[in-house]
Amino acid sequence: MTRGLTKEGMLFVISGPSGSGKDTVIDKVRALDPSIGTSVSATTRPIRKGEKEGINYYYKSIEEFDALIEAGDVLEWDVFQGNKYGTLKSELDSQLQQGKFIMLAITVPGALKIKELFPKESVLIFNLPPSLDTLKSRILNRGRETTAEADARFRAAIENEIPKAVLFDYILVNDNLDETVDSLMSIIKAESSRFSRNETILKDLHLVD
Ligand code: ADP
Ligand code: 5GP
Repeated sequence: MTRGLTKEGMLFVISGPSGSGKDTVIDKVRALDPSIGTSVSATTRPIRKGEKEGINYYYKSIEEFDALIEAGDVLEWDVFQGNKYGTLKSELDSQLQQGKFIMLAITVPGALKIKELFPKESVLIFNLPPSLDTLKSRILNRGRETTAEADARFRAAIENEIPKAVLFDYILVNDNLDETVDSLMSIIKAESSRFSRNETILKDLHLVD
């Protein structure tokens, strides 16, 4: 069991370069603890082979995405490689109310915005590759992007993303996958055991008013 005693909902927000392994690590943690939820984002990026509507993303036209923002349904959004990506209010609200732990893999500005909106519930985790060479080979070996797209993602990692790691609460260096997953599970357990995140249980035990 990953979580401590807390009954409060929490947001574990993971940022890091494309290809650093965010989705892989999150999938492994959720396989170990299926009670952990995710947030399915909206995007204007075209659907890729193997992806599913409502599972990987909600795929929107630019007009549909802008209408969601206009309606106040998007908590944060960002542009990555020319496409818009955003966290939907509907994805977080009900899960947080149920006291669930939620993992989000989003860009650095998105993570900082979530922390601003949910200062108490959020933990920011930066996922780093063990080296830039490893990052490049993981992006290329994944075989998902064209060479030009992979190059753009690699450049974004060096110029925009990795320098922002200092703004996060935790760093993961995703070298050995099992060790990374183990570290993330430890972060989840330690953070959920914080005094400030256990108000409900302290009240139930009549230890605080
Ligand atoms: P991200 O979600 O950050 O874009 P992915 O989870 O898609 O990254 O991982 C990028 C590639 O690297 C995938 O092919 C994945 O299988 C591989 N990968 C992820 N973590 C590791 C690891 N610790 N060791 C080796 N390969 C990994
Ligand atoms: P991809 O195209 O590889 O699925 O995602 C590109 C980038 O967008 C990744 O860094 C991913 O974490 C980020 N991303 C996905 N959903 C969101 C979101 O809702 N908000 C923000 N800010 N970034 C997101």
